[in-house]
Formats: sequence, C-alpha cells, structure tokens
Amino acid sequence: MLLIHCPYCGEERPELEFRHAGEAHIARSANITETSDEDFEAFLYLRTNTKGLVYERWRHVHGCGRFFNAVRDSVTDRFFTTYRAGQPKPDPARFAKAVAAVEPLVAEPATPVVAAQPKPAAPARAPRKTTTQPAVEDTTVATPDADAATASEETRRSARRAKSAAMPEAASAVVEEKPQRKTSATSKTAEPTAKAPAGKARKAAGAAKAENPSDALAPEKRDEAGKLKPAPKRTRTAPVKKGEA
Ligand code: ZN
Repeated sequence: MLLIHCPYCGEERPELEFRHAGEAHIARSANITETSDEDFEAFLYLRTNTKGLVYERWRHVHGCGRFFNAVRDSVTDRFFTTYRAGQPKPDPARFAKAVAAVEPLVAEPATPVVAAQPKPAAPARAPRKTTTQPAVEDTTVATPDADAATASEETRRSARRAKSAAMPEAASAVVEEKPQRKTSATSKTAEPTAKAPAGKARKAAGAAKAENPSDALAPEKRDEAGKLKPAPKRTRTAPVKKGEA
C-alpha cells in the first residue's frame, strides 16, 4: 500500500487516510472584483496537468484533517516530499534526478496487452484444425484409387502368373520373385494412406491366388478397375505376344 507522510502528524500513513485536493500554489487574487474574466477563468478552471513532477494539495482526512502540499510524479505516482501549507514551493531541479531515476510504469502494462492479442487468434486457427475431418474424408475418397492401384497390381500379378504357366518353371520362378518385391514396396506406400483397402487388396490377392486360371481373374479386373480398363488390355496383349513368340 502506498504510504504518505503527513507533515503535521509526522508519520507515514496509508493512502486511504488521505484525499487529493487539486493543484497546489494557486493563489486567489486579493481584489477578486477587479480581476478580468479571463484571469478569473484561469484561476478557477485552468490547471497545468503536467506529465511528471506536480505540486498538489492533499488532506489528511482520516487523521489530523489538515491540508498540506506534496510533490509527486504523475507518471509513477511516487511522492518525493510533503510540506506544510504556506511553505515556499520547492525547486523542481531538486527532484530532477529522482524523476529521471524512477522508471516509468506506463510502458510495462502496454506490452502484456499486446501479448494478449495473439491469444484470440489461436482459437481462430483451432477450428481450421477441426476441419481436418474433410481431410480424413479425402483419404477415404482416395482409397478407391489405392484399390485401383492394388487392382492394377493384381492384374500384373495374374498376367505374370499366366506367363509363368505358359513359360518353363525356371523362367517363371525368376519372374515371380521380381513382382513380390515391387508389390511389397507399393503396399508400404499405400498402407499409411489407408490400411483398410490394403487388407481388402490382400484378401482379393488371396482369392486370386486360390483361383489360378487367368479366365476367372479377367472379370475381376474389369469390375474392380472400372476406370482403369486399359490396364487389363495390356495384360492380355502381353501374354499373347510372348505366346506367339
Ligand atoms: Zn495528519
């Protein structure tokens, strides 16, 4: 709590016992009837209202009840000295060093207000993050593409198996090893986007393995691939060429 020294009581008392009483050292003219309206207006209303060192009247309301004068810094609200009414006005140069030494308290509260502004901006970004749901939907939408890719891989597998059936066993073994490596690499890339379609593709691949004949796999290629109809055509042309050769 701010303590103010009362020059009459000789004690520093809490600020709650005191009351501000306006600017000090404003003298009322002896001949008030002869003063001009402008001078009377200045005496009655005009105040210096300086930023920094000010001379003020204070009253020890809840103490001795007397008026006294104080020298205070209007920026830091710190009292430099108090003196009894009627005493001469202290020289401002006497408090110049004290005013310069005290750091201003006004600049500090301005910075936390500026820091508080970005906080409301953060919740504005939060709903954007909540809009990640459509992104999940995008992944689900992208799953048919992965299915199509796996389907095209299946068609390649079936085509190579058909080749291996036509080709001798030694050549077929070499041909089968390569697609397994390729499919493993592609399946790893497809799994992070959507694991479910990869499982479906594996089930479909298992079903395809059970049905080794190329004629039974041909309709599945057409049904699952849909847009990728040219893929099965390539598979058909490839075995036919090598069969002819
Ligand atoms: Zn007092």
